[in-house]
Amino acid sequence: MGSMNIMQKPHAVCIPFPAQGHINPMLKLAKILHSKGFHITFVNTEFNHQRLLKSQGSESINRHPSFCFETIPDGLPPSENLDVTQDIPSLCKSTSETCIEPFRKLLTKLNDATTTPPVSCIISDGVMSFTLDAADELGIPEVLFWTTSACGFLAYAHYDTLRQNGFFPLKESADLTNGYLDTIVECIPSMKGLSLKDMPSFIRSTNPDEFMVNFVIRETERAQKASAIILNTFDDLEHDTLHELSLIYPRVYSIGPLHMVSKSMENKDLHNLGSSLWKEETACLEWLDSKEANSVVYVNFGSITVMTPQQLVEFSWGLANSNQTFLWVIRPDLVSGDSPTLPREFLQATINRGLLASWCPQEKVLNHPSIGGFLTHSGWNSTLESISSGVPMVCWPFFAEQQTNCWYSCNQWGIGMEIDSDVSRKQVEKLVRILMAEEKGEEMRGMARVWKKKAESSSSCLNIDKLINQVLLRS
Ligand code: UDP
Repeated sequence: MGSMNIMQKPHAVCIPFPAQGHINPMLKLAKILHSKGFHITFVNTEFNHQRLLKSQGSESINRHPSFCFETIPDGLPPSENLDVTQDIPSLCKSTSETCIEPFRKLLTKLNDATTTPPVSCIISDGVMSFTLDAADELGIPEVLFWTTSACGFLAYAHYDTLRQNGFFPLKESADLTNGYLDTIVECIPSMKGLSLKDMPSFIRSTNPDEFMVNFVIRETERAQKASAIILNTFDDLEHDTLHELSLIYPRVYSIGPLHMVSKSMENKDLHNLGSSLWKEETACLEWLDSKEANSVVYVNFGSITVMTPQQLVEFSWGLANSNQTFLWVIRPDLVSGDSPTLPREFLQATINRGLLASWCPQEKVLNHPSIGGFLTHSGWNSTLESISSGVPMVCWPFFAEQQTNCWYSCNQWGIGMEIDSDVSRKQVEKLVRILMAEEKGEEMRGMARVWKKKAESSSSCLNIDKLINQVLLRS
């Protein structure tokens, strides 16, 4: 398609949910489609686009004639500070209520332009299903990209089942702490042995009108209307879950791990186009070069997790007492309501074996031979990046479907160990030691490498071609 007249190119409008873990995989997919001959319009919120210009530099963002960025407002009140993660439920509410009009206007503008081909398909984040109305009005196919694991998505798709089986709402707030969350949930097909605590966390509420639960139920129902659903996972990893999903949704394509797939397909001139919302500190890569193979534990809780000052202290002493070498990434907004401060004695004790950073190029870090384990919040991108680097995990899930990812990592895939939500330095010390220095850790590393091989030989590239031919180019 390379030499095709620009006006005849298929034109995909890609619109991610405005959070880091959604923008990353969407940008990768957009680059893949671009390399397959698509003209791309990538739609950010105004807030995130400003952040991207700041962290990536405007030269790398605005350079490509057939890969264009556009913005729409997110509907939230303006914020001065560009270095903080926006509140996720607030974003779900505001995007679902306010974004359809600006999105429609944008599509009209794109279709009226004489220098870009008409919009021929929409790839929208799964939790932005308002976009389906716009696709419908234009009579073009729309694919919903759920950037969760398949298991996380299946659990969300069964939120209503959980409600019907009396698991939601909780009877009383004591149920959060009295062991009730350990009740095994048996009403979701193919999910055997998971308890209520392993379900995506929004249902832990006594409020029947809990916004996120009702939002998720609506979004997963509306997903039936999409031309197809795509997931950033691979068949070997989530075979049974994907099968279950294919019984609910007519066309489900597994196209991940996208960061692996995109490496083999990406167009060279888009190579430097990144999607980190924070500026990456790259000095840690040189530091890692000086360390031995599998000797460093990498600690990072993603873009959204917040913890209390006390939890930060527990993690720091756990790491110090484990006696392992670590790279710990502490976001400026990691601690709720405060800037993160570490005990001075901790800093002194670990000065020769710990490196701190505020944001890093995570894929490169995880792929570095010195990294032997990952202390993670079990976000889906982090989990998948760990799997495709052959790195086992200690998991401290924070919210949403991270709980479900954690369960599968520990109980199904054999590559994780869980830390209680009520984190203690003793447990951190113990599990980090097992991960890095004991036989069980070595076994998990072996397992992670097996998954890495399977990811490399997955059918995801073929599935992307199928998605293009069966759905996106359908007229
Ligand atoms: N990430 C990064 N540098 C960091 C921390 C995170 O590049 O220092 C990236 C990471 O590689 C992943 C994304 O940010 O692609 C985080 O997504 P994830 O689903 O793991 O967690 P979330 O941030 O959504 O909780």
